[in-house]
Amino acid sequence: MRKTSIVVALVLGAVPVSAQPDARATFTVGTATASRGQRVYGAIKVPPGTDGTYDIPVAVIHGAKPGPVLAIVAGSHGSEYASILAVEALIDAVKPADLSGTLVLVPIVNVPSFERITPHVNPIDNKSMNRFYPGDPNGTITDRASSVITREVVDKCDHLVDLHGGDLDENLRPYSYWTVTGNQKQDEESKAMVLAFGLDHIIISADRPKDPKASRFLENTASTRGKASFTAEAGRSGPVDQKDVAALVNGSMGLMRHLKMLAGAAAPVARPVWVEKIVTIAADREGVFHPTVDRDAHVAKGAKIGFVTDYLNRPLQDVTAPEAGIIMFVRALPSLKKGDTIANVGVVKR
Ligand SMILES: [Zn+2]
Repeated sequence: MRKTSIVVALVLGAVPVSAQPDARATFTVGTATASRGQRVYGAIKVPPGTDGTYDIPVAVIHGAKPGPVLAIVAGSHGSEYASILAVEALIDAVKPADLSGTLVLVPIVNVPSFERITPHVNPIDNKSMNRFYPGDPNGTITDRASSVITREVVDKCDHLVDLHGGDLDENLRPYSYWTVTGNQKQDEESKAMVLAFGLDHIIISADRPKDPKASRFLENTASTRGKASFTAEAGRSGPVDQKDVAALVNGSMGLMRHLKMLAGAAAPVARPVWVEKIVTIAADREGVFHPTVDRDAHVAKGAKIGFVTDYLNRPLQDVTAPEAGIIMFVRALPSLKKGDTIANVGVVKR
């Protein structure tokens, strides 16, 4: 009896993996179709409309073995260069033979902004390309691009990471956002992903839209569709610091180890700084801004973080911190018009 049962167990254990059909023998995003073990380059075509069209570049790395589909996207703001260069680097850094699962890499969503060096918006319709999701196939170019990204990238992935950084006018310290959706299982999953990514300052976002039809942000478009996802930011105000690029590349590799897409153990952040609230200081008039603190400064409530003069160097006002916290970013440039963000102060969770 005993002998027989051992034989049965061996036979059951001997079903070759190759006999199981591969549900994803190929993987397609836009014009790129990759077979297992391939890296393929292509484009997500923004549908034409009254204000034109363009191609969003995409690389699909379809791993030799099956596994999750991870999308890593950058360049919704086309002058946040460290995040763009990080995704460019990942295209070569990840070898299809080493990968279990599929990596969808979109380095520059906002090509018009990248080409024309326009911060914050798509210069064609003057819209931020991270505020109009899930998009509208009948809208302006940002709406149509958002719509096709929702269909080609969000709907096809299991997880999405949206990379940003300090734009041309933002002197930013690196951080991730962890979105609390209220779905406990998904939130635990995304929290583990954020920790595996490795940036040690994490902003808790509990106030993002819950309606998938009005998701606004790219990460939120994935999160409201049940896909554990997050946003990470590194880099600042123009020139590229390779340390910022490395933080985003290494974070992505750590995340892929956490998701078992790459071999090896992830090294999650041991003691993150949780930021529970962001207080934005906006300019109430035009002028010349002079910062007196650097990014990452820890400030007390009421502490001076800069001052504003008029165009003839006469003092107009001091800028002070409305609450105690960390300077997540401070305005990097003297130009200041009404409504511009002067600084974001992160209030640390105690
Ligand atoms: Zn951005």
